[in-house]
Amino acid sequence: EDRALLSGGSLEDESLLDYQKPVGVLAVVGRPNVGKSTLVNRILGRKAAVVENKPGVTRDRVSYEANWNGSDFLVVDTGGWEAGVEGIDSEVANQAEIAVELADAVLLVVDAQTGLTDMDQRMVRMLRKSKKPVTVAVNKLDDVRDFAEASDFWRLGMGEPYPISAMHGKGVGDLLDACMTMLKNAEHTSGLLSSSNFRRVALIGKPNVGKSSLLNQLSHSQRAVVTDIAGTTRDPIDEVVEIGGKKWQVIDTAGIKRHVNKLSGAEYYSSLRTQAAIERAELCLVLFDVSEPISVQDLRVMSQAVDAGRAIVIVFNKWDLLDTFSRARLERLYESEFTQVTWAQRVNLSAKTGWHTNRLADAMNTALNSWDQRISTSKLNSFLGKIQQAHPHPLRGGKQPRILFATQAGTRPPRFVIFTTGFLDPGYRRYLEHQLRETFGFEGTPIQISVRVRE
Ligand code: GDP
Ligand code: GDP
Repeated sequence: EDRALLSGGSLEDESLLDYQKPVGVLAVVGRPNVGKSTLVNRILGRKAAVVENKPGVTRDRVSYEANWNGSDFLVVDTGGWEAGVEGIDSEVANQAEIAVELADAVLLVVDAQTGLTDMDQRMVRMLRKSKKPVTVAVNKLDDVRDFAEASDFWRLGMGEPYPISAMHGKGVGDLLDACMTMLKNAEHTSGLLSSSNFRRVALIGKPNVGKSSLLNQLSHSQRAVVTDIAGTTRDPIDEVVEIGGKKWQVIDTAGIKRHVNKLSGAEYYSSLRTQAAIERAELCLVLFDVSEPISVQDLRVMSQAVDAGRAIVIVFNKWDLLDTFSRARLERLYESEFTQVTWAQRVNLSAKTGWHTNRLADAMNTALNSWDQRISTSKLNSFLGKIQQAHPHPLRGGKQPRILFATQAGTRPPRFVIFTTGFLDPGYRRYLEHQLRETFGFEGTPIQISVRVRE
């Protein structure tokens, strides 16, 4: 029966599993309550219940995959990003700016029931500056007989306004047709899809851990070439920096440098930035400030990167501020608090003095090699054969789940699918992961293992 799978081989066919490149990235923006979330939910075909309006809720994603008429595209959804109540205007504007920065084209949603407002006009000014193509959707026209009212929004000067009812799905098809045309003709300036020939690294960590300092240090000491990747009229969002003799695309440095700590909801805003940077990166340098107690927020940033399946290197920064006693204490803390990333390399350094920053390059290269690594099906199965012989799954109710066959379904990060005759205990899964790592390395990368039980 194992042979059948081998020859059937659909899982061996990477094209079935690997990611298809989207035609572009569409940001959905608009002031609060115009119906962005409702529209995005409709585009994604997900349940309306996903609409979540709790202020300060950390969203786990910034972009979502969508499909319209056979075209895959990414949606950057700002619905539900609304944070603090004070200073809501600037907050909304900031968030819309992030979304626009990440996108190739923009869908601006306005509300027919309230008509044009000042905030709509401000959004339009921001969009003009961005120079990205824009399509306008006039929402809440629930009765098609009222669709003509949309023409009032020609006044925005953003081209033909499309009447829709996001709630009832009316007009959404025509709108998406227009958006697809816009995306296909758009210059591809999006942060999310832009890719140079360089590997992409993000420096992440809560404010003040030393991200800018480290970047500066790396740029100076390595005599970096700082280049504007996007090459457009707007601010560059990435830089190319030479680290250890190799060029890297450093993600989102503009966002990192632009300090927003004074804003209300700064923490939330910075977590949104972090998430966007993680989505665009292949490798994350997760920075910690060792002169401060390691906080829940620090560990959350790390988890975001791991959960997103990125290669990681842990950086303990400001090492120059530690005395011998605190170093020992920190080592103990590391043992107990960083169990999620026992596979990651850690570099202790000082971004300020440059001490040990030359150790980063090796760790970064190792992590990315692991992230890319593919184990052949034959090697994998002979490895699993040996494991099962040496340490079979414990008996459960007189039965013993057996591993039939396994394959590596993907890379970046490595993903494995294991076919078994029964459910595997969590302990045994951990054992398998541990053995996989012992045998094949995978230092610096998360690995994903899914188990399929065959009847
Ligand atoms: P967001 O803040 O822009 O994401 O807006 P939401 O999607 O949360 O919608 C705000 C409110 O408008 C909610 O109460 C929705 O049910 C309502 N809404 C959204 N789309 C429509 C629509 O097409 N027609 C009507 N009548 N109400 C809508
Ligand atoms: P960011 O918000 O993560 O970009 O952090 P910054 O790079 O702006 O650094 C925050 C503060 O920490 C600044 O005052 C830096 O001078 C300081 N700093 C950064 N790295 C180090 C370091 O390695 N040692 C010491 N002593 N201070 C550092």
